[in-house]
Amino acid sequence: MHDARLPLPTQRPEGIAHCFCGQTITSVTLGQHVLAARRAIGA
Ligand SMILES: [Zn+2]
Repeated sequence: MHDARLPLPTQRPEGIAHCFCGQTITSVTLGQHVLAARRAIGA
């Protein structure tokens, strides 16, 4: 199984995307946020 796909900010011209958890993330916060989110869901 592949990991659930995330709406990567880099795919948006604004560099902004909404995470699956509902939080707004940017290319700056993406890495740190994904690590925190994965820790939170135990993935
Ligand atoms: Zn999130």
